[in-house]
Amino acid sequence: MRELMAVMGLLSLVACGGSGPTGPSSDPTGPVGIHISDNWDGQSASNASVTINGTQYRTDGDGRVTIPASVGTALEVDAPGYLHRRTVYRRSLPGFPSGELTLLNTSVTPFGYVQAVVYSGASTTRLRRPNFGTYTVGVDAAIQSDGQAMDTVSHALGELSDATGGNIRFVLSGTSDGNYRISIDPSHVLADRLGSTASSLDPANPNILTGGTISLRDLSVAKTNIVLHEMGHGIGLNHSNDSGDIMFPNPRSTTFSEKERRIISYLVHRLPGTEQEDDDTNVRLGL
Ligand SMILES: [Zn+2]
Repeated sequence: MRELMAVMGLLSLVACGGSGPTGPSSDPTGPVGIHISDNWDGQSASNASVTINGTQYRTDGDGRVTIPASVGTALEVDAPGYLHRRTVYRRSLPGFPSGELTLLNTSVTPFGYVQAVVYSGASTTRLRRPNFGTYTVGVDAAIQSDGQAMDTVSHALGELSDATGGNIRFVLSGTSDGNYRISIDPSHVLADRLGSTASSLDPANPNILTGGTISLRDLSVAKTNIVLHEMGHGIGLNHSNDSGDIMFPNPRSTTFSEKERRIISYLVHRLPGTEQEDDDTNVRLGL
């Protein structure tokens, strides 16, 4: 089975764009081309290193390098100023073309920040997020009947969809039902808090979020940045220690900071289940 996967991966690369397996190959062990870039701005990383079993290969000025690899080969990826990444050469997955590797620039978002916002969930140190796609959001009757609250919710959903680069989109369902549900429900909000979020997980993979239930203390909260904050929890973000962030426990801003947008870009460009610091070698997807 593993050997068959390796053959499929190579053909997927040769076909350019990951259109899928078309037949057997006589050379399942490379060489394969790798392109390394910044997962925020897409800029190619020149002079980055890819290490396989102790042997180091370096990218050229366009961030490209050819390496002897097949599906399942472990890769250590480094570039000055970027978070060290451990990954595996994979078949193409939706949004993850085979041979395209991205790195997190730590100049604006040092690892401590990434750790707090991405890897510090209550029960996991693995990255959690929804799969790519469109998610419906239901709001209860009280919110639907208030124009200002509806404007706030619409703004939050637009802001969130935009921050994911459109890969994870949120649209109002028009009813109180949906993948995500926002309601005025003080019984689910602790006494000194304004809102809470309970996330739904894919039973087959607890690192994949499938939706959530957002409870707000009262209608006035539905007209504040707490809606975006709670939806941020809904896509897998934890609290930030930076008071300029939406994910700060008592946020003041109304839009994601640049640091948060970089982190959401990182979240989107990683497979669910990625471990800190930046290690997806235990994620089985694409292998
Ligand atoms: Zn919170």
